[in-house]
Amino acid sequence: MTAVSLQTKKLSNFINGEWVEVNDSTAVINPATGEEVVQVPLSKAKNVEEAVEAAKKAQKEWALVPAPQRAEVLYRVGYLMKERKERLSQLLTMENGKVIEEARGEVQEGIDMAFYMAGEGRRLFGQTTPAELKDKFAMSQRTPVGVVGIITPWNFPIAIATWKSFPAIVAGNAVIWKPATETPIMAYELAKIFEEAGLPKGVINVVFGAGSEVGDAMVHHDDIRVISFTGSNDTGRNIAGECGKQLKKVSLEMGGKNAVIVMDDADVDLAVEGILWSAFGTSGQRCTACSRVIVHEAVKETLEERLLAAMEKLTIGNGLDESIKVGPIINKAGMDKIKSYIEIGKNEGAKLLAGGYELADDAYGNGNYFAPTLFTDATADMRIAQEEIFGPVVSLIPVKSFEEAIEVNNGVTYGLSSSIFTNDVNRVFKAQRDLDTGIVYVNAGTTGAEIHLPFGGTKGTGNGHRDSGVQALDVFTEWRAIYVDY
Ligand code: NAP
Repeated sequence: MTAVSLQTKKLSNFINGEWVEVNDSTAVINPATGEEVVQVPLSKAKNVEEAVEAAKKAQKEWALVPAPQRAEVLYRVGYLMKERKERLSQLLTMENGKVIEEARGEVQEGIDMAFYMAGEGRRLFGQTTPAELKDKFAMSQRTPVGVVGIITPWNFPIAIATWKSFPAIVAGNAVIWKPATETPIMAYELAKIFEEAGLPKGVINVVFGAGSEVGDAMVHHDDIRVISFTGSNDTGRNIAGECGKQLKKVSLEMGGKNAVIVMDDADVDLAVEGILWSAFGTSGQRCTACSRVIVHEAVKETLEERLLAAMEKLTIGNGLDESIKVGPIINKAGMDKIKSYIEIGKNEGAKLLAGGYELADDAYGNGNYFAPTLFTDATADMRIAQEEIFGPVVSLIPVKSFEEAIEVNNGVTYGLSSSIFTNDVNRVFKAQRDLDTGIVYVNAGTTGAEIHLPFGGTKGTGNGHRDSGVQALDVFTEWRAIYVDY
């Protein structure tokens, strides 16, 4: 594959439709090679101020554009993304490390979201309702919130941004977007697409920079009326605390400790396929990654054998090579965290069946690679079975019954995604009722959500809002009740 090139050595902010240079910058490193890809600006709070001023002005005009016409810009964005799908995918692999097949899947999610949300421009429905009194007309409608702040993580640099910015824009808001410093290229490319698609100046503004500076300034800005955040729990909780003080609306999508349940009646080969993809895809660096396998003791040994055999076939390396199935870890800090959990797991008494080490010989150069890892005989209370590791590490927890499997699944502070492999229709219906997570899969792994359904979790994963689906509009709109006496 001939790698695409970025055609710039340093990115610029996109504010009020202009490309604005910032003096300070830091390097974006390709985690597969350790090489610098580009410099990303380190903006200051004053750059956020400039963006908010532009957004406030633009939003007033944008809100007056009829929603079906706002949607037309999103259709154009969708077609431009489609045209550039391969370019976007390769750049995504270069900044984030995920293998090219997954990068293409992520870009496709963004394309799907463009067309889906463009359609919503014709369906921003309210209600009419019979009034209590005579000669009165009563109705409700969605209204834009105003200027919204979007803060996104490095693990899905384009999909998550589209889940947030597209509903925000179609609903008549203006956006300030701070992408993760590790992965700014998708934001730069998407801003160029918005520009070419004819989105009016100031409706989307991209401000690059550190969370502690740019993100913090957004959270504290009085004129940003909503913060939509995806990232880690610690950051999210702090943001929620600040927003709470200001009575600012905040939507949080945070971590997961997702489980695949394999029952005694399951198709074990199908379960292995599901576990493999959801545990080791994106090297386990997904909020929905499977990091626990809750297995009925009757099929535990069979599952272990077949899973180990499948893991041996996983190819690890630079994801631009089509034959590679598992890419790198995002950075050294991520690597250190994974290594620390390997020690924790061993000390807790879980049995290490495969992996557990960094791949650091010549073949891997300066990339950050970690061997796909399998612990078995873990218990539900161990830290490796409770805490988000964010790496290619899975712990098998044996159980004796369906009821115990549900209890173990629900016995964590997170609630994002669960899956069950079973051929018993009664268990299928009981599981979809009793699994306490925002997403439930039956006979599939824990990843692979589609954009037309709400995405998000229960308990410590979030605060009740959802990305994706028509429900995403609830984050970016207010409900207005209107009474007309006649
Ligand atoms: P993170 O460290 O919390 O960063 C997320 C974003 O927040 C980045 O843009 C970051 O900026 C910014 N940020 C950091 N400190 C901030 C502050 N004080 N104020 C405002 N913004 C701040 O998370 P991450 O490591 O990028 O992402 C991994 C986490 O995201 C995992 O826990 C994963 O489960 C979760 N996630 C959840 C979902 C979901 O939908 N539930 C989806 C994907 C990922 P910098 O770039 O400067 O650090």
